[in-house]
This record gives sequence, C-alpha cells and structure tokens, in this order.
Amino acid sequence: MSGRRQPVVGVLGGGQLARMLALAAAPLGVKTLVVDSVADACAGQVAPLLVADWTDFAALEDFARKVDVVTFDFENVPAATAHWLAERVAVFPNPHALAVAQDRLVEKNLFRDCGLATPEFIAVDTRASLDRALAAIGAPAILKTRRLGYDGKGQFRLRSLADADAAWAVLGAQADAHGLILEAFVPFERELSVLAVRGRDGHFHTWPLTQNWHTDGVLSLSLAPALAIGQLQQRATELARTLAERLDYVGVFALELFVKDGELLGNEMAPRVHNSGHWTIEGAHTSQFENHVRAVLGLPLGDTGARGVSAMFNWIGDMPDAAPVLRTADAHWHDYGKQFRPGRKVGHATVCAPDGAALADRLAALADGLGRAAQAAPALRELTCRQDLLRPGPVPAK
Ligand code: AMP
Repeated sequence: MSGRRQPVVGVLGGGQLARMLALAAAPLGVKTLVVDSVADACAGQVAPLLVADWTDFAALEDFARKVDVVTFDFENVPAATAHWLAERVAVFPNPHALAVAQDRLVEKNLFRDCGLATPEFIAVDTRASLDRALAAIGAPAILKTRRLGYDGKGQFRLRSLADADAAWAVLGAQADAHGLILEAFVPFERELSVLAVRGRDGHFHTWPLTQNWHTDGVLSLSLAPALAIGQLQQRATELARTLAERLDYVGVFALELFVKDGELLGNEMAPRVHNSGHWTIEGAHTSQFENHVRAVLGLPLGDTGARGVSAMFNWIGDMPDAAPVLRTADAHWHDYGKQFRPGRKVGHATVCAPDGAALADRLAALADGLGRAAQAAPALRELTCRQDLLRPGPVPAK
C-alpha cells in the first residue's frame, strides 16, 4: 500500500460558501476541514466540522496541524486569528489582504490608489463629525459601519440632513468600536461585480462581469455575462488585477461595482468566493469554488469563460417549491440545508441557456412556475430591452 496523502483545505467559517467549496474540492481529490462556532453550520453536512470559536487557540492549533492551507468562508474572522494561523500554516488570502477588505475606509482608499473611483466618502467618529461630513457630501447619503457590516447590515440611509439624529441613534454606539463612514448615495445605472482569481504563481483571470440586483441590501438576482457593458469588462479586469497584485492576493475575490454615467465606481471588495459568482457553478467552464481551491493549493487555474448566459435567483428567508427548477432544462437547484429565518440566505437556483434570447424564455417560464415573477423582472427587462446585445456563445473573460 502506498501512503497517498490527499491535500486538506481548512476553511474558517462553515456557511454555504464553505459548503460549496467542499463540494468543489471533492472531485479534485481534496479534503476540506471546516471550523465554525456553531455545531449545525451547514458546511458540516458535507465536510468534517470542528466546532470552535475564533479565539480558541487550542482548537485552532489542532486545526492548523491537520490542514495544508487555510482559507475563509467569512471575511470577519479577527485579524489576530488570521495572523496567528499564518505563523503555523499557509493562509490565503493573506491576513493583510483580509484586514484591508474588513475596513471600508482602508478599502476605499486602496481603490482610489489603484485608479478605481469610489462614491465620495468621509470617515465619521463623533456626532459632530457626522454633521460636518453631511454638510460636505450632502443628502442623500449612507452611513455605514467601517467594519463587520455586510448585506446592507450596519447601514443607515439618510434622505435629508434632518436624518442625522436618527442615523446616529442607530449607528452612533458603534462609532467607537468599529468607526463609521459616510458615503454619497450613488444613483447608479447598474450594479456589477467582477469575480477574479489569482494563483500562488501570480496567474490571474476574471470571469465575465455579472449584473446584480439587490433587495434591502441583499443580493436577489444575478445575470451573467452582464449585457450593455461596452469596454467595462476590460476596465474591471485591469482594476481587479491591479488590486490583486497590490495585495499579493491569492484565491478568488469579488469586486462590487456601481456603473454611473458609464464609468465604474468601487463599492466594496469581498475577500472570498461571492454570492454573485454562484452562477459559475453551472454557467462557467470552471466555477469560482473550484478555482479558489486550485488557487490556494497552487494548482493550475481553470478556464473562467462562460458557457452561455445564466441567471441566478437567491432564496432569502425561505425557498419556493423546487419542482419547477428540477423540471426545467439546464436549471439547477441549491438548498444549503439551513433552517429558514427572515433575511437568511438559504439557497439559490441558476438557470442557464446557450444565448440571451433562450435564457429570457426559460427564465420567464421558470419565474412564473416558481411564483417569483417580480424577482426575475429586472433580468427579464434587461434581456428583452437589450436584444441587440444578445449574441450566442461564450464571452471572452480575460
Ligand atoms: P454594501 O453592503 O455596501 O455592499 O451595500 C449593499 C447594497 O446597498 C449595495 O449593493 C447597493 O445596492 C446599496 N448601496 C450601498 N452603498 C451605496 C451607495 N453609496 N450608493 C447607492 N447604493 C448603495
């Protein structure tokens, strides 16, 4: 018997992203070990789960001994934990890149340094500085926590200067612990994201741009490749590459972008696989999950081109009946095995087609069957308004 040893990827955080990483790792012969503080973390249904807190260093010592490389399903792992692990085992993305992406202020300054414009922003740490920032930026604006916010959490939208008291009542208490940032509200034409992957050897690829629609700050629907983007694919790829090289980033990340007057503005960077890239599981030659596993292990990266055109519905809080998806050609159901709870991401479905016209037909029929016509409407509008852009065949990503 030969002593064959399979590589083990350790994942901090045991949610659906870790679950989909583990599912993508398996065909490569790669094992996954997940750490989460809760025993019913949904990745534990498909991979071994170590139940421990981020500061349980005895458990993390054991974890570090068992894995070849550590990565994240959750970007808010304390920087101290990431640094501590990096002294014992390879950690990708590196703790510095993680720390930058954890702080909206540092992140936006980096975007500007890399040539990516952002919405106007000012750091806020006292009630008086909120007034000064509002006077400078004007309304409407959004007050956000610098740290620990995601999916629209830790945010307050100010419609007028008179909303300052209300915003401070909600977020003021977090000013000391996390710091705040006031951003101009951007009346954007579109929201896009670019998913990118960089290998340990510096090889870099992006997937075709994805167009996203949010409801209450949470992703509701994605369409990929995004239509009506002109030169933006090339521009987004260049910006993502500059950022990745600046951070010596290894693995997949998402750059969330607004399009305003045809130009890109940087909203935020997610230092991990991302919800807007779930369509890549069936809609791209290599999924974001597989390429992340390949990247962190130093394996060659796979082709990021699209196979056609895809739309992804996110299931938030609960899910419709799966049957219409299971009955539709090239439609794919993903149930994360989580308890339903308002606002919680519990699953998604992707529908793919060879071209945009075929996708519009399939998506319209499916949305009807699911009782989700309103959720699908923005992508259907985009697909039907932009018939001029619907071309069969994959869109080159690089
Ligand atoms: P975030 O958690 O910063 O990604 O925000 C969640 C969602 O809120 C974004 O995807 C946008 O739809 C919206 N949003 C956030 N910041 C802004 C902004 N400065 N202007 C307009 N909409 C925004």
